[in-house]
Amino acid sequence: METNVCNIVADVKIKIPELVGLKENHKTTIVKVNEVEIGGSEVIIIAGPCAVESEEQLFSTARSIKEDGAKLLRGGAFKPRSSPYSFQGLGEEGLKLLREIRKETNLPIVTEAMDTRQVELVSKYADMIQIGSRNMQNYPLLKEVGMSGKPVLLKRGMMATIEEFLFSAEYILSQGNDQVILCERGIRTFETSTRNTLDLSAVPMLKNLTHLPVIIDPSHGSGLRWMVPALAKAAVAVGADGIIMEVHNNPEVALCDGHQSLNLEEFKELMVDLRKIATAVGKQIL
Ligand code: PEP
Ligand code: MN
Repeated sequence: METNVCNIVADVKIKIPELVGLKENHKTTIVKVNEVEIGGSEVIIIAGPCAVESEEQLFSTARSIKEDGAKLLRGGAFKPRSSPYSFQGLGEEGLKLLREIRKETNLPIVTEAMDTRQVELVSKYADMIQIGSRNMQNYPLLKEVGMSGKPVLLKRGMMATIEEFLFSAEYILSQGNDQVILCERGIRTFETSTRNTLDLSAVPMLKNLTHLPVIIDPSHGSGLRWMVPALAKAAVAVGADGIIMEVHNNPEVALCDGHQSLNLEEFKELMVDLRKIATAVGKQIL
């Protein structure tokens, strides 16, 4: 187990559930997704499309992000869309495409389960199960993924406090699964110029309250492609253990979240900058 020293902030007056609370030695728990370790000195980059759309889209994106240093591949097969008439994802067909490209690239797969009834199926294909923002307080689902034995990427509810976020994580840990990564992905505020308001302060706050690794999603955190690089760099600087970003081989024709997805060239350029910032804060991106 790697180390990462956290300081207790004595003046934070919220309840911290038992299992997610800082350990006595203040070490960050390493979450292992296949061969990839999250929570150590390497900043882990997770990239890929919002939704799996086709073999061509997924495979070309995956090959390119792998080449640039991404360590995990994201891509939704079941999508929580605001409108029931929007593209809902390819379902199991999408999961099969993810499995196929994993065979070639060896990139572990992160993909969402939206419902307790999907957990068994998603577990067959995924290396880490994503719980989306809208489901952060779906307690039966949290228990189900807790029992799945798979690492879990838990996204902060868009209207959830840090305390509520930690209690949701506690649901998963209470099932005997401590392989949980917390993801700040922007919260609802009065601001309307961005899709969400990325709460960068959640990173140092969480790192001072819990032993779980913390990552940032600058794509949903802004909803703006041009803003993603600035927020990703800030995420590394503020101490995030990783970043999850939407990247698409042709964002203009994406079926989901193209407006906030980097193209392959933009991702490549961003990785160069992220490596410099990681080095500046005593970490690395390999
Ligand atoms: C996603 O990662 O594509 C997603 C739907 O994220 P969130 O749950 O944070 O909105
Ligand atoms: Mn998305």
